[in-house]
Amino acid sequence: MDNWILKQALISPAKLAVDDGQTRLTFAELKSRVEVTAGKLLASPAVKGKRVAMMTRNSLAGYLMALAVLGTGKTIVWINWRLSDEEIGRQLTDSQAAVCLVDDALWRSDFRAPFMKFSALEQSDAQPHQLVDQFNNADVASIMYTSGTTGAPKGVMQTFGNHFASAVSSSLNLGLTGHDEWLCAVPIFHISGFSIMMRGLIYGMTVRLIDHFDPVVVDHILTTEPISTISVVPYMLKKLLDLRRDQRNVYNPYFRCMLLGGGPIDLETLKDCRQLQIPVVQSYGMTETCSQIVALNDADADSRIGSVGKPLFLTQLKLAERNQEVLLKTPALTVGYLNRPQALPDKLTADGWYRTGDIGHFDSDGFLYIDGRIDDMIISGGENIFPDEIESVYLQRPDVDGIAIVGVDDAKWGQRPVAFVVGNQPISEPELIQFGRQRLAHYKVPKQFIQIDQLPMNAGGKVQRFKLKQRIDASL
Ligand code: ATP
Ligand code: MG
Repeated sequence: MDNWILKQALISPAKLAVDDGQTRLTFAELKSRVEVTAGKLLASPAVKGKRVAMMTRNSLAGYLMALAVLGTGKTIVWINWRLSDEEIGRQLTDSQAAVCLVDDALWRSDFRAPFMKFSALEQSDAQPHQLVDQFNNADVASIMYTSGTTGAPKGVMQTFGNHFASAVSSSLNLGLTGHDEWLCAVPIFHISGFSIMMRGLIYGMTVRLIDHFDPVVVDHILTTEPISTISVVPYMLKKLLDLRRDQRNVYNPYFRCMLLGGGPIDLETLKDCRQLQIPVVQSYGMTETCSQIVALNDADADSRIGSVGKPLFLTQLKLAERNQEVLLKTPALTVGYLNRPQALPDKLTADGWYRTGDIGHFDSDGFLYIDGRIDDMIISGGENIFPDEIESVYLQRPDVDGIAIVGVDDAKWGQRPVAFVVGNQPISEPELIQFGRQRLAHYKVPKQFIQIDQLPMNAGGKVQRFKLKQRIDASL
């Protein structure tokens, strides 16, 4: 394929490509700006080899830098700047990136090579450089480490072909209009954000960048600017919803889709969205599939509340007979994990289906429901228990700020559920048990509630249940 930046500069030069609230660049201007940065990248002796790591906020500088990396034919290694120094170090070593370009806003005085501040590169007076003319389907555009919810993060290699398939699949479902403008309030180092950048280039669509998620700012933008779409994770949706409860005004007239993904959500929140007429499209996907591969359209949301929907046009989906694991095929599927040549083949069935590690079920009309992760599933007395379901029941209590359920070995039942609770006041165990018994099948109700100050979370905000399990194992 032609380089997407050059292509859009040719076919829609005057169309707005990106807007960070201060600077607005058309596709023609974007091309020139990226050529300038590409020249500096190529002239820098620090920028060696095929892979360039990047640590950035959702800044215009980061957006241009990422496109310049692609425009010089190199691969972006996205580094989540919320990780610890040790985790970042491991990913830099694993990826063998010679340099890690750092947004000025994230620069720390103790940073040394391979870290390099954006502005240090920008100071160079190198001439602009022509961009590569092709984005080849088979070439790796980006390497993105998985969240590490279930173990050590793995570098997922995403090709241009993967990103293209993902963008096309999404538009065949959500549709595309000349007015579309996607608000990117999710991090661009995560697939939720980077896929918006890629869609912008592929669709010729405006990307509205916002530095970080501030619910009040986002609510204001959705009300006053012609945004059609925003991607959100459950936490963001809840914050935005809270602001809508007592508002009289509505989002701008072009607004048509809040694309929700990344993790499970409780039914109450979805029902509230329906009531407040917020058009939510539930979706399901992962880093390995370059974002959503299954989605529930707004029109079906009322009757299928809780479902993540139907497979997108390019996704094939089925459940493993043995354990109901979600299996899929899609051209958006990663070509492999970096430095782990066996890791992807290990996740494929003999006939080439990718095993997601998630358990699900279909209803009679083919809508998919995600029950939880295989690794988190607790089998107690022959019954399957999914922590998500129990957790969402307890999260309805105002005195419970956080909760995570894990399975511990039990001589009688095989396993039994144990809860770790973060309360904003002391709550007695009998009261919590009683609460659960009124709302859940008895075998699902934890018999032990351990109060803790904080749940272990990964940098993406997901609870790391394996760490809680380790804590219990250590205390036995
Ligand atoms: P790791 O693979 O390192 O453990 P991770 O799987 O959390 O990390 P991501 O690729 O960011 O990393 O997340 C994808 C996972 O998130 C899916 O496999 C699924 O478990 C969960 N998920 C995504 N969307 C939904 C959804 N709508 N409902 C329930 N779970 C979801
Ligand atoms: Mg995963």
